[in-house]
Amino acid sequence: MSDTQEILQQDFDHLWHPFTQMRLWPGEPPLVIERAEGNYLIDSEGRRYFDGVSSLWVTVHGHNHPAIKRAISEQLERLDHSTLLGLTHPLAARLAAELARVCPGQLNKAFYSESGSTAVEIALKIAYQYWQQSGRPEKKTFVALGEAYHGDTIGAVSVGGIELFHQVYGPLLFPVHRLPQPFCRRCPLGLTHPACGLACAEALEPILAEHGDEICGLIVEPRVQGAAGIIVQPEGYVRRLWEICRKHDVLFIADEVATGFGRTGSLFSCEQEGVEPDLMCLGKGITGGVLPLAATMATDRVYEAFLGEFDEFKTFFHGHTYTGNPLACAAALASLELMEKNQVVAGTAPVIAHFAQGLAKIAALDHVVQVRRHGLMAAVELSADKATDTSYEPGERMGHRVIMAARNHGVIIRPLGDSVVLMPPLSSTTQDIDLLLGALGRAIAEVT
Ligand code: PLP
Repeated sequence: MSDTQEILQQDFDHLWHPFTQMRLWPGEPPLVIERAEGNYLIDSEGRRYFDGVSSLWVTVHGHNHPAIKRAISEQLERLDHSTLLGLTHPLAARLAAELARVCPGQLNKAFYSESGSTAVEIALKIAYQYWQQSGRPEKKTFVALGEAYHGDTIGAVSVGGIELFHQVYGPLLFPVHRLPQPFCRRCPLGLTHPACGLACAEALEPILAEHGDEICGLIVEPRVQGAAGIIVQPEGYVRRLWEICRKHDVLFIADEVATGFGRTGSLFSCEQEGVEPDLMCLGKGITGGVLPLAATMATDRVYEAFLGEFDEFKTFFHGHTYTGNPLACAAALASLELMEKNQVVAGTAPVIAHFAQGLAKIAALDHVVQVRRHGLMAAVELSADKATDTSYEPGERMGHRVIMAARNHGVIIRPLGDSVVLMPPLSSTTQDIDLLLGALGRAIAEVT
């Protein structure tokens, strides 16, 4: 048995993959990714693929960046892990200070965890407990958007709105107030932008007017809903939600797990509309895409509600074994330093412009009904008939077929239903973007 076959056999026999129908797995053997170089992944047969999804939306400086490797290995010589219960360590403290410096508004306190889902879970618990300890214990529920994705732990699933991921867990979830999804192409209110006057944002006003006394927070992916299919919100949408939340004293929780760290052309996407959240969830690109780390940022106002005497029990009773792991903090600090030294966010502007131009050509292809893009996040939606906008049958798995064809052209991308998601690393060159879009165009022509 070759190495690849042996690995695949062990995988089939013992490995349960995320979001995967394992029954189909043996018929569609996965690539075995063994190495990476910059923006490219290399499989066990030595084939190179452009990492068109940034290894699930995380890669900032390219894989195996020497500065991040050095920071991790130097930290490994000093301290591999130590708890933040009753102790601290230099990098956890330094990173918290750095995050407070770069985050918008008064987000001066960092609470660490290991994934975007846990960052969200923590934000929800903090928001709830904040009101319990601020003399408004009746404020207990949340507002979230239709089709939102905030992760897959129970709290994060409760505020999430993608029916497919959530229906089976219904009895385990807590109820939330749901805003109509800000998706102009399929406006749930049947309106047209801009004549609608941002009715999908204005829908928050009556909810808070009626139930604001019971609502502790609103959670939103600012500027673009990622896993919903890269749904780009109309300009002014997030700011309007923020204004209404402030008016009714409801905490504004920005889930920047996907959009944070330069993905949308600014360090955080809420900055694009001058929004200053009360809580902000960070993950994915925080370590440059190298090690699992997440942070929930809180304002001083929120934090202070947790201060009291020991026996008042205002403590935030939450924390994981690996909270603030020193190696992950080292990676995050090195990544932030690289971002500033190399002006990574400003440097993405010409690549974003090139991406937009190339996508305009993809939009003209047969079977492409819409291309949605914000910064370096994009989705290409396919349809059986462009003129009538008729969807493919689910069993046709068109998105999946396109991404499999793209692999033959040296590109790894991911489907979301009939859409294909493109999330190139922030370190992509214009040549990389040409390779990505060229492969996608050929794949669409081959399988549709
Ligand atoms: N929030 C958003 C906006 C996300 O896009 C994701 C993941 O895609 C999450 C939260 C969950 O992050 P993780 O998969 O790291 O738990």
